[in-house]
Amino acid sequence: MENVRKTFGGGEIVACDDINLEIQKEDFVVLLGPSGCGKTTTLRCLSGLERPDEGHIFIEGVDMTGVKPKDRDLAFVFQSIALFPHKSVRENIRFGLDMSSEMSKSEKNESVEDIAEMLGIENMLDRKPSALSGGQQQRVSLGRAMVMEPAAFLLDEPFSALDANLRKQMQTEVKELQRRLETPMVFVTHDQEEAMAIGDKIVVMNDGHVQQIGSPYAVFNEPANQFVADFIGSPSANLFESRLQQSSDGHTLENDLFSLPIDRELDSTAQSLDTVTFGIRPQYVNVTDTGDALFTGDVTLVEPQGDRDTVYFDVNGHELRTVVPQNTVTAEQNEVNLDIERDKFWIFDRDGKRLL
Ligand code: ATP
Repeated sequence: MENVRKTFGGGEIVACDDINLEIQKEDFVVLLGPSGCGKTTTLRCLSGLERPDEGHIFIEGVDMTGVKPKDRDLAFVFQSIALFPHKSVRENIRFGLDMSSEMSKSEKNESVEDIAEMLGIENMLDRKPSALSGGQQQRVSLGRAMVMEPAAFLLDEPFSALDANLRKQMQTEVKELQRRLETPMVFVTHDQEEAMAIGDKIVVMNDGHVQQIGSPYAVFNEPANQFVADFIGSPSANLFESRLQQSSDGHTLENDLFSLPIDRELDSTAQSLDTVTFGIRPQYVNVTDTGDALFTGDVTLVEPQGDRDTVYFDVNGHELRTVVPQNTVTAEQNEVNLDIERDKFWIFDRDGKRLL
């Protein structure tokens, strides 16, 4: 996608703008962002269901911007499972081939059976969709897309109607499937945990714009800006308004919680800044028993998560979220020694751009 822009309402609503995205054969791309950020519109532009106001879409090097959806060789799987209720599973999966392919009936059936086996629904081919569970129905939708051997799969929140366990299972399956098929998938979700679990390349969007494109590790550890830092990760990152003080031997960051000498090199534009935002993930705040802790906090809540606890602290009237090994602290503890991993925090400027 090159500089793709799509507006609605005579240009008043900018659904997506300046979208530049390169998708390779082996990619599992996830479009991730809050509701209304333009994920679906971006996917619909890719598919041909929407025509961009500006920009171009190339598929295998060919400009497909004005080409009809059916001529793009892309397959869709939507959130709502639109199977034909009166057709069998076999007929549902075979449907696309029946409409377009020159294959003989036995070749088509063989292809349907191979795909059904890959999806674990080979024993259900003669059933009607109503006799299947939600997860099985979604597998049939996938099968219907797979049988066409498209150049890419486009999936719009395909698992959002499934319960949590089934959703996890389908995520694993679809990721394995993508590896086996070696066909790119573009998957839309607003669920960052789902995105991290399945995506190789995560496209974080907000307000119609791409904020960052990166691996799950990159968007977690090296967010391009404050929006990405805040949106990715659970529990969400700790962000505190701070001041940068310049001294003869470098910078010191100060806020209501602590004073921290900065021994990492700061972006040169930071030299003159005073108000900044300090950010650190809850996973990188530690409870320590040494006397030289950076600051102390009072426990306000402990949420057990199995082997770990999410612990909320009050630090000078600010909420600080941490993730620590189970039973590190109790709910009544006050003045707990806390420290941060010194190579893991970030500093953002007033516009949210990351300086460190
Ligand atoms: P969600 O996660 O809620 O599905 P999204 O990130 O997929 O959201 P889009 O559906 O792409 O977001 O919508 C982006 C913006 O464009 C929203 O403000 C939406 O209201 C607007 N929009 C989308 N389609 C249309 C349309 N056909 N007419 C008018 N506005 C639209």
